[in-house]
Amino acid sequence: MAESWFPVPAGSGFPLENLPYGVFSASDGAHIGVAIGDVIFDVHAASRAGLFSDSTLSDALRAASLNELLGLGRKAWADVRSRLQELLASSSPIASEDRANFIVSRDSARMVMPFEVRDYVDFYSSLEHATNLGKIMRPGTEPLLPNWRRLPVGYHGRAGTVVVDGTPVVRPRGQIKQENGEPEFAPTAMLDIELEVGFVTGRGNALGEPVPIDRAREHIFGLVLVNDWSARDIQAWEYQPLGPFLGKSFATSISAWVVTLDALEPYRTAPPKQDPAPLPYLHAAQDWNYDIALEIALRTEKMRGESAEGEVISRSNFKYLYWSMAQQLAHATSNGATISPGDLFASGTISGPDAASYGSLIELTWRGTKPLKLASGEERRFLEDGDEVTLTGYCEAAGKPRIGFGEVRGKILPPR
Ligand code: MN
Repeated sequence: MAESWFPVPAGSGFPLENLPYGVFSASDGAHIGVAIGDVIFDVHAASRAGLFSDSTLSDALRAASLNELLGLGRKAWADVRSRLQELLASSSPIASEDRANFIVSRDSARMVMPFEVRDYVDFYSSLEHATNLGKIMRPGTEPLLPNWRRLPVGYHGRAGTVVVDGTPVVRPRGQIKQENGEPEFAPTAMLDIELEVGFVTGRGNALGEPVPIDRAREHIFGLVLVNDWSARDIQAWEYQPLGPFLGKSFATSISAWVVTLDALEPYRTAPPKQDPAPLPYLHAAQDWNYDIALEIALRTEKMRGESAEGEVISRSNFKYLYWSMAQQLAHATSNGATISPGDLFASGTISGPDAASYGSLIELTWRGTKPLKLASGEERRFLEDGDEVTLTGYCEAAGKPRIGFGEVRGKILPPR
């Protein structure tokens, strides 16, 4: 890969090989950009300057969200990616004296939602997480229900409350069952996080025509980090018989940068063995897991007061997932349901095999029975007001470019 004319610091997750897409607020409205090093390359400005010859593509790059580009499909995505790599390479056709016109500082940019979320699905695809939750929520029974190894379990969530990195989260109120069995309406006392990765879809399918698993690549544009905030006490009371509802729908946070499948290609890896073998419509010819390191950091009000960094409370990896993105997409459309540009499909909490890799507080503290002891001297069972959670993700291996996701951050505000 060529060097970029823009300096990319050593260890940056945003080299020329990554170029994740985001949308930032510019003086004349929302602009699409890609992250390179510590800056944003203003794709909207590049399009306006005539640097993309195809007019449909050029228009899509001047939209206020990625949805139009998503709808153009994989060939267009590949064309934009290779053109951006040309424009950002040392041999760029952009004259040296003009280059500054296309650069925006990432520190000062205000990122907005990268795409309009059309439909939102959340899966439950980590074997370790599903097993832990089964033990915690239904003690004394078989932790995995009989369908779990047969299909990627999921539910439809609330697209309208998906928010971008940095958006604060107000502690929700809801019905909570008390010890005497009666519900009260109160702020959640069990506010939790879920460490997830989601994929966003591009071109859709026709109603009644499933997406075959080996066509999934044509429909999946890229990935974002997802924090699926959860109120465990509200969830526990409401979730049977129909599934998660208000314990989840108050907010779901995504990272501002969408990392493309193309950028992740060097990190594709073999999936875990599935036993029993899935039904044929869930059998993929190629590997669909990716080696993406994931972390959860927690920064309390006290840590902020002492100017201390957040403390990493878990380290997991996207490669642990039992059900892959291709299987999730094939399953979600297997009944003929449509997908559209901008649908978000989240993985479900990604927990690893050991207790230091669990992706939620309900697992890390075993429903509050084993509080986390933080270096600040504090303890946490669940989130308190003022706590700030940051999820980060990156791919890293010797001889390969580092591919960063950036982060998704959110701070808990008191109930209203
Ligand atoms: Mn979830």
